[in-house]
Amino acid sequence: MEQLLRNFFLFLSKNKMFTKLARKYGLRFGAGRFVAGETMQNTAKVIQQLNEKGMDVTIDHLGEFVDNEDEAKQRTEECIEAIRVISEQNLNSQLSLKLTSMGLDISEELVMKNMRTILDAGKKYNVFVTIDMEDYERCEKTLEIFKQLKSEYELIGTVLQAYLYRTVEDIEELDQYSPNLRLVKGAYKESPKVAFPEKKDTDDNFKKIIKMHLLNGNYTAVATHDDEMIEYTKQLEKEHNISRDQFEFQMLFGIRTERQEELIKEGYRMRVYVPYGDDWYGYFMRRLAERPANVAFVAKGVFGK
Ligand SMILES: Cc1cc2nc3c(=O)[nH]c(=O)nc-3n(C[C@H](O)[C@H](O)[C@H](O)COP(=O)(O)OP(=O)(O)OC[C@H]3O[C@@H](n4cnc5c(N)ncnc54)[C@H](O)[C@@H]3O)c2cc1C
Repeated sequence: MEQLLRNFFLFLSKNKMFTKLARKYGLRFGAGRFVAGETMQNTAKVIQQLNEKGMDVTIDHLGEFVDNEDEAKQRTEECIEAIRVISEQNLNSQLSLKLTSMGLDISEELVMKNMRTILDAGKKYNVFVTIDMEDYERCEKTLEIFKQLKSEYELIGTVLQAYLYRTVEDIEELDQYSPNLRLVKGAYKESPKVAFPEKKDTDDNFKKIIKMHLLNGNYTAVATHDDEMIEYTKQLEKEHNISRDQFEFQMLFGIRTERQEELIKEGYRMRVYVPYGDDWYGYFMRRLAERPANVAFVAKGVFGK
Protein backbone atom coordinates (compact mmCIF):
# COMPACT_ATOMS: atom_id res chain seq x y z
CA MET A 1 0.00 0.00 0.00
CA GLU A 2 2.79 2.39 0.98
CA GLN A 3 4.59 1.67 -2.30
CA LEU A 4 1.37 2.39 -4.21
CA LEU A 5 0.98 5.75 -2.48
CA ARG A 6 4.61 6.56 -3.14
CA ASN A 7 4.22 5.88 -6.87
CA PHE A 8 0.98 7.85 -6.92
CA PHE A 9 2.61 10.97 -5.44
CA LEU A 10 5.65 10.63 -7.70
CA PHE A 11 3.26 10.44 -10.65
CA LEU A 12 1.41 13.55 -9.41
CA SER A 13 4.71 15.39 -8.93
CA LYS A 14 5.23 15.35 -12.72
CA ASN A 15 1.71 16.46 -13.67
CA LYS A 16 1.99 19.72 -15.62
CA MET A 17 -1.64 20.79 -15.22
CA PHE A 18 -1.53 20.48 -11.42
CA THR A 19 1.80 22.31 -11.37
CA LYS A 20 0.19 25.25 -13.20
CA LEU A 21 -2.84 25.28 -10.91
CA ALA A 22 -0.62 25.15 -7.83
CA ARG A 23 1.33 28.16 -9.05
CA LYS A 24 -1.89 30.04 -9.69
CA TYR A 25 -3.51 29.34 -6.32
CA GLY A 26 -0.47 29.66 -4.06
CA LEU A 27 0.77 27.64 -1.09
CA ARG A 28 -2.09 25.31 -0.13
CA PHE A 29 -2.86 21.90 1.32
CA GLY A 30 -0.25 22.16 4.05
CA ALA A 31 2.59 22.90 1.63
CA GLY A 32 3.53 25.83 3.91
CA ARG A 33 4.95 23.31 6.34
CA PHE A 34 7.64 22.36 3.82
CA VAL A 35 8.01 25.53 1.75
CA ALA A 36 9.21 28.71 3.50
CA GLY A 37 7.45 31.29 1.32
CA GLU A 38 6.65 32.33 -2.18
CA THR A 39 9.05 35.28 -2.29
CA MET A 40 12.68 35.79 -1.28
CA GLN A 41 11.67 38.61 1.08
CA ASN A 42 9.40 36.29 3.12
CA THR A 43 12.01 33.58 2.99
CA ALA A 44 14.73 35.90 4.32
CA LYS A 45 12.77 36.16 7.59
CA VAL A 46 12.62 32.37 7.89
CA ILE A 47 16.37 32.10 7.26
CA GLN A 48 16.99 34.75 9.92
CA GLN A 49 14.93 32.77 12.46
CA LEU A 50 16.78 29.54 11.66
CA ASN A 51 20.14 31.33 11.94
CA GLU A 52 19.10 32.65 15.36
CA LYS A 53 18.61 29.04 16.47
CA GLY A 54 22.18 28.25 15.37
CA MET A 55 21.26 26.62 12.08
CA ASP A 56 22.97 27.14 8.77
CA VAL A 57 20.73 27.23 5.72
CA THR A 58 20.75 26.46 2.04
CA ILE A 59 17.88 27.93 0.06
CA ASP A 60 16.40 26.52 -3.08
CA HIS A 61 14.24 28.49 -5.43
CA LEU A 62 11.75 25.83 -6.44
CA GLY A 63 11.29 24.98 -10.08
CA GLU A 64 12.61 22.28 -12.35
CA PHE A 65 12.32 20.95 -15.89
CA VAL A 66 12.34 24.38 -17.52
CA ASP A 67 11.93 24.02 -21.28
CA ASN A 68 12.44 27.51 -22.69
CA GLU A 69 15.31 29.94 -22.64
CA ASP A 70 13.39 32.88 -21.15
CA GLU A 71 12.27 30.86 -18.15
CA ALA A 72 15.82 29.58 -17.59
CA LYS A 73 17.02 33.18 -17.70
CA GLN A 74 14.36 34.21 -15.22
CA ARG A 75 15.38 31.37 -12.86
CA THR A 76 19.00 32.46 -13.18
CA GLU A 77 18.08 36.02 -12.24
CA GLU A 78 16.11 34.72 -9.25
CA CYS A 79 19.21 32.88 -8.05
CA ILE A 80 21.29 36.01 -8.37
CA GLU A 81 18.66 38.00 -6.49
CA ALA A 82 18.74 35.37 -3.73
CA ILE A 83 22.53 35.60 -3.50
CA ARG A 84 22.29 39.39 -3.29
CA VAL A 85 19.67 39.27 -0.50
CA ILE A 86 21.72 36.69 1.45
CA SER A 87 24.70 39.03 1.30
CA GLU A 88 22.80 42.30 1.95
CA GLN A 89 20.96 40.89 4.96
CA ASN A 90 24.05 39.10 6.21
CA LEU A 91 22.24 35.75 6.28
CA ASN A 92 24.06 32.51 6.96
CA SER A 93 22.87 30.71 3.86
CA GLN A 94 24.09 28.92 0.80
CA LEU A 95 22.17 28.39 -2.43
CA SER A 96 20.97 25.11 -3.94
CA LEU A 97 19.72 24.83 -7.50
CA LYS A 98 18.75 22.37 -10.18
CA LEU A 99 20.43 22.37 -13.58
CA THR A 100 17.13 21.71 -15.35
CA SER A 101 15.99 25.11 -14.02
CA MET A 102 19.03 26.72 -15.61
CA GLY A 103 18.39 25.20 -19.03
CA LEU A 104 20.03 21.75 -18.89
CA ASP A 105 17.35 20.26 -21.13
CA ILE A 106 17.61 23.10 -23.65
CA SER A 107 21.33 23.28 -24.40
CA GLU A 108 24.66 22.79 -22.71
CA GLU A 109 25.78 26.21 -23.85
CA LEU A 110 22.80 27.85 -22.13
CA VAL A 111 23.15 25.97 -18.85
CA MET A 112 26.89 26.74 -18.71
CA LYS A 113 26.28 30.41 -19.41
CA ASN A 114 23.61 30.66 -16.71
CA MET A 115 25.68 28.70 -14.19
CA ARG A 116 28.74 30.89 -14.75
CA THR A 117 26.60 34.01 -14.19
CA ILE A 118 25.34 32.56 -10.90
CA LEU A 119 28.78 31.37 -9.79
CA ASP A 120 30.27 34.78 -10.59
CA ALA A 121 27.69 36.29 -8.22
CA GLY A 122 28.47 33.56 -5.66
CA LYS A 123 32.14 34.46 -5.88
CA LYS A 124 31.47 38.18 -5.61
CA TYR A 125 29.18 37.83 -2.55
CA ASN A 126 30.88 34.77 -1.05
CA VAL A 127 27.86 32.47 -1.31
CA PHE A 128 28.39 28.71 -1.84
CA VAL A 129 26.28 27.04 -4.54
CA THR A 130 25.24 23.36 -4.52
CA ILE A 131 23.95 21.68 -7.66
CA ASP A 132 21.13 19.34 -6.54
CA MET A 133 21.05 15.93 -8.19
CA GLU A 134 17.97 15.15 -10.28
CA ASP A 135 16.90 11.92 -11.95
CA TYR A 136 19.28 9.28 -13.30
CA GLU A 137 18.84 10.43 -16.89
CA ARG A 138 20.56 13.70 -15.98
CA CYS A 139 23.15 12.37 -13.54
CA GLU A 140 26.05 11.92 -15.96
CA LYS A 141 25.55 15.36 -17.54
CA THR A 142 25.23 16.99 -14.11
CA LEU A 143 28.52 15.48 -12.97
CA GLU A 144 30.31 16.50 -16.17
CA ILE A 145 29.10 20.07 -15.72
CA PHE A 146 30.05 20.01 -12.04
CA LYS A 147 33.60 18.86 -12.87
CA GLN A 148 34.02 21.59 -15.46
CA LEU A 149 32.70 24.32 -13.16
CA LYS A 150 34.66 23.03 -10.18
CA SER A 151 37.85 23.62 -12.15
CA GLU A 152 36.79 27.27 -12.58
CA TYR A 153 35.12 28.10 -9.25
CA GLU A 154 35.76 27.26 -5.62
CA LEU A 155 32.37 27.84 -4.03
CA ILE A 156 30.56 24.95 -5.68
CA GLY A 157 29.42 21.49 -4.62
CA THR A 158 27.00 18.83 -5.78
CA VAL A 159 25.03 15.81 -4.60
CA LEU A 160 25.42 12.04 -4.92
CA GLN A 161 22.58 9.58 -4.37
CA ALA A 162 23.13 6.34 -2.44
CA TYR A 163 20.41 4.44 -4.34
CA LEU A 164 22.38 4.50 -7.62
CA TYR A 165 24.73 1.60 -8.37
CA ARG A 166 27.21 4.01 -9.95
CA THR A 167 27.70 6.19 -6.88
CA VAL A 168 30.62 4.34 -5.27
CA GLU A 169 32.57 4.82 -8.51
CA ASP A 170 31.53 8.48 -8.65
CA ILE A 171 32.88 9.01 -5.13
CA GLU A 172 36.21 7.51 -6.24
CA GLU A 173 36.29 9.45 -9.49
CA LEU A 174 35.41 12.80 -7.94
CA ASP A 175 38.00 12.49 -5.16
CA GLN A 176 40.64 14.15 -7.38
CA TYR A 177 38.55 17.37 -7.22
CA SER A 178 38.37 17.30 -3.36
CA PRO A 179 34.70 18.08 -3.70
CA ASN A 180 32.26 19.30 -1.09
CA LEU A 181 29.46 16.76 -1.55
CA ARG A 182 26.00 16.38 -0.12
CA LEU A 183 25.19 12.69 0.22
CA VAL A 184 21.54 11.60 0.12
CA LYS A 185 19.54 8.40 -0.33
CA GLY A 186 17.86 9.67 -3.53
CA ALA A 187 14.35 11.00 -4.14
CA TYR A 188 13.34 9.98 -7.68
CA LYS A 189 11.62 6.88 -9.02
CA GLU A 190 14.38 4.93 -10.77
CA SER A 191 14.58 1.63 -12.60
CA PRO A 192 16.15 -1.38 -10.84
CA LYS A 193 18.55 -1.36 -13.77
CA VAL A 194 20.27 1.70 -12.28
CA ALA A 195 19.21 1.89 -8.63
CA PHE A 196 18.82 -0.47 -5.67
CA PRO A 197 15.15 -1.46 -5.46
CA GLU A 198 15.52 -2.48 -1.78
CA LYS A 199 15.74 0.20 0.91
CA LYS A 200 18.17 -1.94 2.92
CA ASP A 201 20.69 -1.93 0.04
CA THR A 202 20.38 1.83 -0.36
CA ASP A 203 20.96 2.26 3.36
CA ASP A 204 24.07 0.04 3.26
CA ASN A 205 25.39 1.94 0.27
CA PHE A 206 24.67 5.24 2.01
CA LYS A 207 26.87 4.19 4.94
CA LYS A 208 29.56 3.04 2.52
CA ILE A 209 29.74 6.34 0.65
CA ILE A 210 29.62 8.44 3.83
CA LYS A 211 32.63 6.52 5.11
CA MET A 212 34.52 6.70 1.80
CA HIS A 213 34.04 10.42 1.34
CA LEU A 214 34.90 11.29 4.95
CA LEU A 215 37.99 9.08 5.00
CA ASN A 216 39.10 10.60 1.70
CA GLY A 217 39.31 13.81 3.75
CA ASN A 218 36.59 15.62 1.83
CA TYR A 219 33.86 17.87 3.20
CA THR A 220 30.72 15.79 3.62
CA ALA A 221 27.13 16.90 4.11
CA VAL A 222 25.12 13.95 5.39
CA ALA A 223 21.59 14.89 4.30
CA THR A 224 19.10 12.60 5.99
CA HIS A 225 16.34 12.38 8.60
CA ASP A 226 17.32 8.82 9.41
CA ASP A 227 18.73 8.38 12.93
CA GLU A 228 20.60 5.26 11.87
CA MET A 229 22.65 7.26 9.34
CA ILE A 230 23.19 10.10 11.80
CA GLU A 231 24.42 7.72 14.50
CA TYR A 232 26.66 5.96 11.98
CA THR A 233 28.27 9.29 11.04
CA LYS A 234 28.85 10.13 14.70
CA GLN A 235 30.43 6.72 15.19
CA LEU A 236 32.82 7.35 12.26
CA GLU A 237 33.67 10.74 13.74
CA LYS A 238 34.79 9.08 16.98
CA GLU A 239 36.51 6.02 15.47
CA HIS A 240 38.50 8.02 12.94
CA ASN A 241 38.93 11.24 14.86
CA ILE A 242 37.19 13.26 12.17
CA SER A 243 36.96 16.98 12.86
CA ARG A 244 33.47 18.45 13.13
CA ASP A 245 34.66 21.07 10.64
CA GLN A 246 34.80 18.36 7.98
CA PHE A 247 31.14 17.45 7.97
CA GLU A 248 27.64 18.65 8.64
CA PHE A 249 24.16 17.22 8.85
CA GLN A 250 21.42 18.52 6.59
CA MET A 251 17.66 18.16 6.83
CA LEU A 252 14.71 19.57 4.97
CA PHE A 253 12.77 22.54 6.32
CA GLY A 254 9.76 21.38 8.34
CA ILE A 255 10.95 17.80 8.83
CA ARG A 256 12.19 16.58 12.24
CA THR A 257 12.67 20.11 13.56
CA GLU A 258 13.27 18.85 17.10
CA ARG A 259 16.00 16.50 15.93
CA GLN A 260 17.62 19.41 14.10
CA GLU A 261 17.70 21.39 17.35
CA GLU A 262 19.10 18.45 19.31
CA LEU A 263 22.00 18.08 16.88
CA ILE A 264 22.82 21.76 17.30
CA LYS A 265 22.80 21.32 21.09
CA GLU A 266 25.16 18.37 20.72
CA GLY A 267 27.56 20.72 18.92
CA TYR A 268 27.10 19.49 15.36
CA ARG A 269 26.80 21.68 12.32
CA MET A 270 23.26 21.48 11.00
CA ARG A 271 22.09 22.97 7.71
CA VAL A 272 18.42 23.28 6.85
CA TYR A 273 17.40 23.08 3.20
CA VAL A 274 14.79 25.80 2.76
CA PRO A 275 12.74 25.70 -0.44
CA TYR A 276 10.80 28.76 -1.53
CA GLY A 277 8.99 30.13 -4.57
CA ASP A 278 5.68 29.69 -6.33
CA ASP A 279 6.69 26.48 -8.13
CA TRP A 280 6.28 24.37 -4.98
CA TYR A 281 4.03 21.61 -6.26
CA GLY A 282 6.52 18.94 -7.53
CA TYR A 283 8.71 19.33 -4.45
CA PHE A 284 5.71 18.99 -2.14
CA MET A 285 4.48 15.82 -3.89
CA ARG A 286 7.95 14.23 -3.57
CA ARG A 287 7.92 14.88 0.20
CA LEU A 288 4.53 13.14 0.39
CA ALA A 289 5.85 10.24 -1.67
CA GLU A 290 8.75 9.81 0.74
CA ARG A 291 6.53 9.57 3.76
CA PRO A 292 2.89 8.90 3.04
CA ALA A 293 2.25 9.49 6.79
CA ASN A 294 2.51 13.16 5.88
CA VAL A 295 -0.76 12.77 4.02
CA ALA A 296 -2.60 12.96 7.34
CA PHE A 297 -1.04 16.35 7.80
CA VAL A 298 -2.08 17.40 4.30
CA ALA A 299 -5.60 16.14 4.87
CA LYS A 300 -5.82 18.60 7.75
CA GLY A 301 -4.67 21.34 5.39
CA VAL A 302 -7.43 20.44 2.94
CA PHE A 303 -10.29 19.69 5.31
CA GLY A 304 -9.59 22.14 8.12
CA LYS A 305 -8.62 21.31 11.72
C1 LIG B 1 19.07 18.60 2.75
C2 LIG B 1 18.59 17.60 1.77
C3 LIG B 1 18.87 17.76 0.43
C4 LIG B 1 18.45 16.81 -0.50
N1 LIG B 1 18.82 16.93 -1.81
C5 LIG B 1 18.49 15.94 -2.68
C6 LIG B 1 18.96 15.95 -4.03
O1 LIG B 1 19.66 16.86 -4.47
N2 LIG B 1 18.58 14.93 -4.84
C7 LIG B 1 17.82 13.88 -4.40
O2 LIG B 1 17.54 12.95 -5.18
N3 LIG B 1 17.36 13.85 -3.13
C8 LIG B 1 17.68 14.84 -2.27
N4 LIG B 1 17.23 14.78 -0.98
C9 LIG B 1 16.18 13.77 -0.61
C10 LIG B 1 16.79 12.45 -0.22
O3 LIG B 1 17.31 11.81 -1.35
C11 LIG B 1 15.73 11.52 0.41
O4 LIG B 1 14.71 11.30 -0.52
C12 LIG B 1 15.12 12.08 1.67
O5 LIG B 1 16.05 12.74 2.46
C13 LIG B 1 14.50 10.94 2.50
O6 LIG B 1 15.48 10.05 2.91
P1 LIG B 1 16.05 9.99 4.41
O7 LIG B 1 17.53 9.84 4.30
O8 LIG B 1 15.61 11.17 5.16
O9 LIG B 1 15.53 8.66 5.01
P2 LIG B 1 14.17 7.81 4.88
O10 LIG B 1 14.59 6.44 4.53
O11 LIG B 1 13.13 8.49 4.07
O12 LIG B 1 13.66 7.86 6.35
C14 LIG B 1 14.36 7.10 7.33
C15 LIG B 1 13.82 7.37 8.69
O13 LIG B 1 13.91 8.77 9.00
C16 LIG B 1 12.87 9.12 9.87
N5 LIG B 1 12.02 10.14 9.24
C17 LIG B 1 11.97 10.46 7.95
N6 LIG B 1 11.06 11.46 7.75
C18 LIG B 1 10.55 11.74 8.94
C19 LIG B 1 9.56 12.65 9.40
N7 LIG B 1 8.91 13.47 8.57
N8 LIG B 1 9.28 12.67 10.72
C20 LIG B 1 9.89 11.84 11.57
N9 LIG B 1 10.83 10.94 11.19
C21 LIG B 1 11.15 10.90 9.91
C22 LIG B 1 12.07 7.86 10.12
O14 LIG B 1 12.59 7.22 11.24
C23 LIG B 1 12.36 7.06 8.87
O15 LIG B 1 12.14 5.69 9.03
C24 LIG B 1 17.68 15.70 -0.05
C25 LIG B 1 17.40 15.53 1.30
C26 LIG B 1 17.86 16.44 2.21
C27 LIG B 1 17.59 16.20 3.68
